[in-house]
Amino acid sequence: ANRDTTAATGPTPTGGVDWHRLREDFPILHQTVHGKPLIYFDNAATSQKPRVVIETLRRYYERDNANVHRGIHELSNRATQAYEAARTRVARFLNARSPDEIVFTRGTTEGINLVAQAWGLQNLRPGDVILLTELEHHSNLVPWQMLAQRVGAKLAFVPVTGDEGLVDERRLAELLAPPVKLFAMVHVSNSLGVVNPVADWCARARQRGIVTLVDGAQSAGHMPVDVQAIGCDFFVFSGHKTCGPTGVGVLYGRRELLEHMPPWQGGGEMILSVDYHQTTFKAPPHRFEAGTPDISGPIGLHAALDYLDGIGRARIWQHDQELAQYAYDRLAAIPGIRLFGPKRGRAGLVSFLLNDVHAHDVVTLADREGIALRGGHHCTQPLMRKLGVESTARASFYFYNTFEEVDRFVEVIRAIQKFFS
Ligand code: PLP
Repeated sequence: ANRDTTAATGPTPTGGVDWHRLREDFPILHQTVHGKPLIYFDNAATSQKPRVVIETLRRYYERDNANVHRGIHELSNRATQAYEAARTRVARFLNARSPDEIVFTRGTTEGINLVAQAWGLQNLRPGDVILLTELEHHSNLVPWQMLAQRVGAKLAFVPVTGDEGLVDERRLAELLAPPVKLFAMVHVSNSLGVVNPVADWCARARQRGIVTLVDGAQSAGHMPVDVQAIGCDFFVFSGHKTCGPTGVGVLYGRRELLEHMPPWQGGGEMILSVDYHQTTFKAPPHRFEAGTPDISGPIGLHAALDYLDGIGRARIWQHDQELAQYAYDRLAAIPGIRLFGPKRGRAGLVSFLLNDVHAHDVVTLADREGIALRGGHHCTQPLMRKLGVESTARASFYFYNTFEEVDRFVEVIRAIQKFFS
């Protein structure tokens, strides 16, 4: 590939990591699609899994599979220990004060629904306001709409400006005040690649007694995340976007809040004692994990987090950003392209449109060349409407992607543009 080394990036390897060698850890990357080498640029939708995660799942089912917290036999003890060790590992990954602040969920979406139903129903009153940004994914919007309808609360939105999609800080300063009770914000926008200054926002919210939730679906696996430094009350992410399995996610909740929250689902595992008419519940986090949980999921996630930290999240973040900036700068040279998101300081993705070509056509033609992109509204329909478009095409990167792949991608996008012009 003819990488333009005069572009925004320095010579690889970033931070001393041999990114090409890491590709060997991902069996799925080594295949052809429609006769072309696969270029997987749909990492914001889900990430691929390193062999160590796949092997961990296999070993668990071959050796240790049993239900957790129930048996006193050897396998049940092993499964329980591994499940709880995963919780401790997640606490370290996020720098939570305690594993008791880590609740396992199905994913980001379920974590937000849990907070909406357990914390929200208990704490919100008619007239209260839930503040969101205009960037939010449907999963950090629809649960709050449903909650607001139930309790008579209202939603308010901090606007974003232009195609760059940066949050209007002046409006935020005005909006961050009573009757706002909760400020729920995306850390990294999955549609535009905007990186929000969540530590600053959470500090300001806290000064005004506003509870905060950070949607870390796109940040947790890509950059160092320290929930104490961010100062949020809740932080959510999905295992499948962080090299872990699908079906497992994490809700971090500050202990003081979790302790006062009622359960949201009832059943086995979450109880201390049950009578025919009354139940006493376990303390957090088990109070929020009713029924047999996804056991292999957290165990696989544990392996994924070890793997990511073995590379170093600061290095991953730098590589992501360099790839995205390189892609952005090269795409910007294509006539008739419209690029979305910030010009500088973007996360590892680019969102774009070619003249009047539908994003689905771009994605379909790229697929024929072995390149996996996403085309659509990216679960941010209101944001698309605000930008005056129906959809965008999106390339989203991870550490196993290379500059050569970006070169090939830009070449293909150029060819598609020519085809339609
Ligand atoms: N929030 C953001 C910013 C996302 O990108 C996504 C996934 O696309 C979600 C929330 C929802 O994650 P999940 O579908 O894993 O629950």
